[in-house]
Amino acid sequence: MQEKQTPTLHSNSLRVYQQLSDATGWTPLVKLNKITKNYPQAEVYAKIEFTNPMGSIKDRIARHLIKKAMAEGRLKAGDTIIENSSGNTAMGLAMMAIENNLKCKIVVRASTAKEKLDALRAVGVDLILVDPSLPPEHPDSYNKKVYTVLKQHPEYYFPDQHNNLANNEAHFLTTGPEIWQQMDGRIDFIVAGVGTGGTLSGVARYLKTQDPDIKVVGIDPQGSVFYDFFKTGKLIKPSRYYIEGLGDEELIKCVDFDIIDDMIQVSNEQAFKYTRKLAKEEAILAGGSSGAAMYGVLKVLSGLSANKPVRIVTIFPDSGSRYLSTIFNDDWVQNLGIKL
Ligand code: PMP
Repeated sequence: MQEKQTPTLHSNSLRVYQQLSDATGWTPLVKLNKITKNYPQAEVYAKIEFTNPMGSIKDRIARHLIKKAMAEGRLKAGDTIIENSSGNTAMGLAMMAIENNLKCKIVVRASTAKEKLDALRAVGVDLILVDPSLPPEHPDSYNKKVYTVLKQHPEYYFPDQHNNLANNEAHFLTTGPEIWQQMDGRIDFIVAGVGTGGTLSGVARYLKTQDPDIKVVGIDPQGSVFYDFFKTGKLIKPSRYYIEGLGDEELIKCVDFDIIDDMIQVSNEQAFKYTRKLAKEEAILAGGSSGAAMYGVLKVLSGLSANKPVRIVTIFPDSGSRYLSTIFNDDWVQNLGIKL
């Protein structure tokens, strides 16, 4: 006879939403079990952000920035948004644009993974592709192109995710409290990549208001300026790297260096190696910045006592399905001269 089973239902997943963007957040926190096996004293949990409606953590800020701008009367139906994005913020903004009858123009590097560019076109975004080799001071570079367009179209609304502190606020209000609740308030380290800085700065600010002893570790790609600035106060000349979504060629306002206790630098090779390991060992098909964060977590663990229990939270911002033609493609990786 079949045993009678009591169904267990997850309350949040049963909610009905009036529009897609309202399903943003309340992402799962998942314990890593195999990739951390050399550290039995450690419990490592990853916040799986690719379960957001448009596939990344950036849905949170897109929703917050656009709702705030509309509520404050700075943006209304029919207006055009312009932003520079490595692709994920753009997807979130596309969702907000569709729901609120806005137009969406995005400055994106031509080298961005094809999957992201195709997805952006599919949801009706008008892409402005820029040459990734242009120096940051060039008017057509990734960092300056928005300002060049705004000179001709001052009526466009520029959320400015890199310098608008409402980016950090989105994570202070959502990502941070979710992690605190999911971890029952017992956290030793938060380790996360720094792109605009919004995620780490906002989450860290919230967590430190709850427990000032939590250590905050930021991950930065080799070639970005943040790591050296944090360690020495000096600005290095930036160089090309291939971990999309992390680092920058210049300092930006949303990176709150005061809240960061330590930074770890990661190479393309290290990030991609751990991106692939996450897929094979944990079945977590995540993007390159997740592999970078994973490398950072293991680096933190390698410096800690093997006897002391430790609880670490990290954040996996987007899905590996956005990088099947790049990080998960052997030819692409080999062409960069990387051996995995
Ligand atoms: N990973 C990916 C894939 C991203 O798109 C971003 C956003 N730039 C980040 C990490 C970093 O998040 P944040 O901008 O909040 O620092």
